[in-house]
Amino acid sequence: MSPPKKKRRTGKNTLFARVMNSKSGDIRLCSICEEPIKPLYTDEGVIYWYSGNNAQPINDGRCCDQCNNTDVIPARIEMRGNFFKSPEEN
Ligand SMILES: [Zn+2]
Repeated sequence: MSPPKKKRRTGKNTLFARVMNSKSGDIRLCSICEEPIKPLYTDEGVIYWYSGNNAQPINDGRCCDQCNNTDVIPARIEMRGNFFKSPEEN
């Protein structure tokens, strides 16, 4: 009888591993790409924001800057466009 082995993330998830080993327990993962959200630092190197961006309307979670720029903002612009467009137009 051997105890169940935990699979370790390796290779491309080195950033993930680094973040998990850091002192901060507040790091969150992007709800879209599942990469760690990069915290924002003050000039003194103190983390003052680690929650990334609101991922709505993609989902209810938080997301990284990358996904915010490539997915969330375009989705919001698209929603706004549909909102102002009446069904008769097109
Ligand atoms: Zn992301």
